Amino acid sequence: MATIAANIQQVHDRMARACALAQRPVQSVTLLTVSKTYSADAVREAVAAGERRFGENYVQEGVDKISELIDLRDRLEWHLIGPLQSNKTRVVASQFDWVHTVDRLKIAERLSAQRPPGLAPLQVCLQVNTSGEANKSGLGPAELAPVARAVAALPGLRLRGLMAIPEPTADPIEQRRAHRALRDLFDRLRADGLDLDTLSMGMTADLEAAILEGATIVRVGTAIFGARIQPGR
Ligand SMILES: *Cc1c(COP(=O)(O)O)cnc(C)c1O
Repeated sequence: MATIAANIQQVHDRMARACALAQRPVQSVTLLTVSKTYSADAVREAVAAGERRFGENYVQEGVDKISELIDLRDRLEWHLIGPLQSNKTRVVASQFDWVHTVDRLKIAERLSAQRPPGLAPLQVCLQVNTSGEANKSGLGPAELAPVARAVAALPGLRLRGLMAIPEPTADPIEQRRAHRALRDLFDRLRADGLDLDTLSMGMTADLEAAILEGATIVRVGTAIFGARIQPGR
């Protein structure tokens, strides 16, 4: 069985090949190691292999892992990449460094108000629903600009960019189409004067397509830790 370190090297190789194809510098794309459902020991292995940014989907699991790894807290960045309910904002505002899944102004206002004053602003992305299904989380493209302007003005947050989870598809053309939709929204917000630098898109199955369309953070779990036990998690 491949080790976590070897898997990480392979993911960096995939990222470097995609950057070469896109004629982008390798440093322009950051790997977010998605550790959801995996143990603190697995995270330690990834840290030993040089990773320092970790993504968690479930608030309680993330908080538990952060405290199990408290000895490494200063060296690591913890990113929440799963749905966030308003009753969980306080713990997230005090424990995490980034939230990729802000999808309502109310959530952003709570995170801003609850960010402890001694910490740097919480780094946030707005989650956008680019595939348009009614039951999926994320802001609709039409409501994005006013929410982005309001979030950018909140003192406890720093709005960094946009995030999306497109419908899974094995077709690279479709993958790129979905990522390009997010990229277009990002470019429009920047043209309107918002100071954004982050496009969080691309996972194990579609990181190449995401990098070709401008991703600056790819979120990768399976290719590093192996298939998760619980389907859908
Ligand atoms: C689980 C998850 C990932 C990682 O997906 P893999 O296919 O395992 O690489 C990335 N982003 C989000 C939001 C996730 O929930």
